Parts: sequence; structure tokens; C-alpha cells
Amino acid sequence: MSHKYKVGIIGGGVSGLTAAAALTKHGHQVSVFERTDRIDETHGGFLMWPQANNIFKKIGIAEKIAPNINLINEVLTVDIEGKLLSKALLDFGNENCYSINKKDLMEALVEEVGQQNISHIKFVETIINDENGVTIKFKDESEYTFDLLIGADGANSKVRELIFKTQQKPAYMGYTIWQGIADMPGANMNEDTIIEAYGDGKKIAITPLGYGKYAWWAASTSSHRRLEHLNAGRKKKVVQRYKNFYKLINEVLKTTPEETIIKNAAFTSPPDARNIWGKGKVILIGDAAHPCAPDRGISASLAIEDAFYLSELISTYTSPEAAFKQFTTSRVSRVTTLIKMAKEHGELGLWKSSFAIFIRNFLLKNVLAKSSRKMFDTIAKMD
Ligand SMILES: Cc1cc2nc3c(=O)[nH]c(=O)nc-3n(C[C@H](O)[C@H](O)[C@H](O)COP(=O)(O)OP(=O)(O)OC[C@H]3O[C@@H](n4cnc5c(N)ncnc54)[C@H](O)[C@@H]3O)c2cc1C
Repeated sequence: MSHKYKVGIIGGGVSGLTAAAALTKHGHQVSVFERTDRIDETHGGFLMWPQANNIFKKIGIAEKIAPNINLINEVLTVDIEGKLLSKALLDFGNENCYSINKKDLMEALVEEVGQQNISHIKFVETIINDENGVTIKFKDESEYTFDLLIGADGANSKVRELIFKTQQKPAYMGYTIWQGIADMPGANMNEDTIIEAYGDGKKIAITPLGYGKYAWWAASTSSHRRLEHLNAGRKKKVVQRYKNFYKLINEVLKTTPEETIIKNAAFTSPPDARNIWGKGKVILIGDAAHPCAPDRGISASLAIEDAFYLSELISTYTSPEAAFKQFTTSRVSRVTTLIKMAKEHGELGLWKSSFAIFIRNFLLKNVLAKSSRKMFDTIAKMD
């Protein structure tokens, strides 16, 4: 089947750009619209599961990112004093997990898609979705019509809001997340090991990126869903908040340049939104379709899987609607299972009272190592 579509993509994050690269490989004409002025300025680190690398090989960016990846072989869970609670190996035969600086991944994707196919400072205002196609009007009064539209604009998706009106709002998970990248050449940490440290209503995960850089994210329970991404003094606040954690955690936070620190609220999908991702000629992918807790580093890999699988279906099915239906039907079970796993694991790390912490640490030491391994096998195995 050789139909070639004009495809619009809202959002130049990992899902939008992976979809753009994969669709371009199939000969479709792709335009990406991103609200920020630069994509490769993004900070943060990703843990990538084996299937992401297989997809990157197919869309041609595996070689580009190869010099920047760092193999990850195990995850250690420790308590607030740094004492070991559990250890899980990330070995999947010939396949590996690796970490990558988000900036390096985004640069490679932008190069693959071509800067000329990405428009910046674009804020979508209206979407007309009918049998003739999809017309998008932006705030700057520009207007484009496509055969189909992919909403890849993250957890607070404007596309989802416009297509589904108010029915589907992401659910606030009751905690705030900070993330940053520490510069610690010569630090006393294994470069192939993720550390997750659990405290009282707070947790922090550190992922080595190689070359003495360590990406971290820290979650802390909060009844407010404030989104002050770049407030002055945010470094001081996060250092202060985690000061009762062991020395290494304090060092990681203190050696993080403030400009790399971002604060967000954590969201997950409301249950009724988990299996409704498309309407007419518009489909949602990645965090726009199914926001997920950051635990276990699942969601970027899910976003990459979505993008690649959707592009295969669009290129083989007879209509966008048929491709979207198949996409949702075949993705929903895996996505729902993994989101539930991330959510449950995430909540465990935020238990607060001393009794709850005692029980959690007991479970982690004695029961949960086995279930962690099972969880990792499920994440790494994509049908
Ligand atoms: C602290 C933290 C740590 C994480 N660690 C990991 C990890 O180790 N591994 C992992 O797999 N995942 C991780 N994740 C999750 C991962 O970041 C997301 O799942 C992933 O980025 C989703 O990609 P996306 O492209 O769907 O959405 P996003 O990355 O959110 O991209 C959306 C893009 O759309 C743009 N946009 C938004 N609204 C509009 C609009 N109206 N118009 C135009 N453009 C718009 C945004 O600017 C952005 O560029 C983490 C998340 C957090 C918060």
C-alpha cells in the first residue's frame, strides 16, 4: 500500500520527533509544530529500555547517539541513610538498557527530522477535524491543513483538550518532581548503576549519564499542583528539602547547576482516558495519550514505541482512522499495565509515617526484589 500523507505533529518532544523521523522514512510529508523556541535546550536524562534502541536502529539514529549513551546494568534501592534495601539486574540477554542526556537524544532526532520541518513558537488554538482532513489554526493566525494530525504535546496536551473538550484531564498524583543534572567527575558512584533512595514522603533517583554527569529526579508529596518550572531559589529549596538524606544525595543536589533544575507536578492518566486516544483524523501519542509517573523510567520508551508503531500502521492501513483504531486496540493493554506498575511503585517510595517506612523497607528487602525483576522483564518485552 503506497499512500503518502501530509502529517501534522503538535509537539517536538521525544514522541513527536520519533514519529516525524519514522513517518519521513516511509515517505510521508511531515510538519512538526513546537511551542518553545529551541528543542535541544531541554535538560534531563532518560533511561532507555532495549526496545527503544531497536527502534532507533530502524529510524537511523542509533549510530548518531551511540557516542553519548551509557550502559546501565543494575538498580539499587537504598533507604534514607544509604543502606541497601534491594538490588535488581537489568540484563536482557544481548539487549541493554542505557541512559542518555535528553539534550543529546533531541539533537539527534532534530537532525534526522530536519530543522526545516520543525516550526517553533507555535501555539495551537483551534482544530477542525472532519472527513476532509484536519485544519489547525495557531495563535499567530497561521493555518495549515493535513490529512491527519498527531497530538504529541505532552501530559497537559492542548490537542487532547481541543479534541475531547473537558472529558479527559490528567490526574494530579499528589507529588512534586524536581529534576536536574549534577556535574561530579570522580564521584564515588558506579557509572552503570541507578540509585533510588527512599525517605519520608520523599524519594530521589540518580541515573549516571557517563562522563561524570548524573541525572536525578526527586519527588516529594505535596497537596499543591504548582507548576513553577524555573523559579529563582529552586536549587536552595530542593537541597533544603532533601537535607536529611545521606551524604551522596546531598552532594548530588549541591553540585547541580541551578539552570538545569526544573520543577513539575506529577500527572497520570485518568482511568477513562487510557483507551481513548483518537477521534476522526486526530490521534494522541506519548504523554499526551497516557501520562505516566516517572518511576522505572518507562514513559519515554512508551512514547517512542507509540511513535514507531503508529507510523508503521499509518503506512500500511488503508485509512488513518483504521490505523488509529488498530493502534489503540493493540497498545492499550501494555500501556495500562506499565502505567499501573509505575504508579504503584511510585506511591511506595512516598510512604511517610515511620510504621509505613518500616513495612516498606521490610517489603523491599524481602519480597519486592523478585517482583522488580518481573516488572523489568515486562517493561523490556514488547510484543
Ligand atoms: C522527572 C522526570 C524524569 C523522567 N525520567 C524518565 C526516564 O528516565 N526514562 C523515561 O523513559 N521517561 C522519563 N520521564 C518521562 C519522559 O520525560 C516523558 O514520558 C517523555 O518526555 C514523553 O515524551 P512526549 O514527547 O510524549 O512529551 P514531552 O516530552 O512532554 O514533549 C511534549 C512537547 O510538546 C510541546 N508542547 C506542549 N504543548 C504544546 C502546544 N500546545 N503546542 C505546541 N507544542 C507543545 C512541549 O514543549 C514539548 O516539547 C521522566 C519524566 C520526568 C518528569
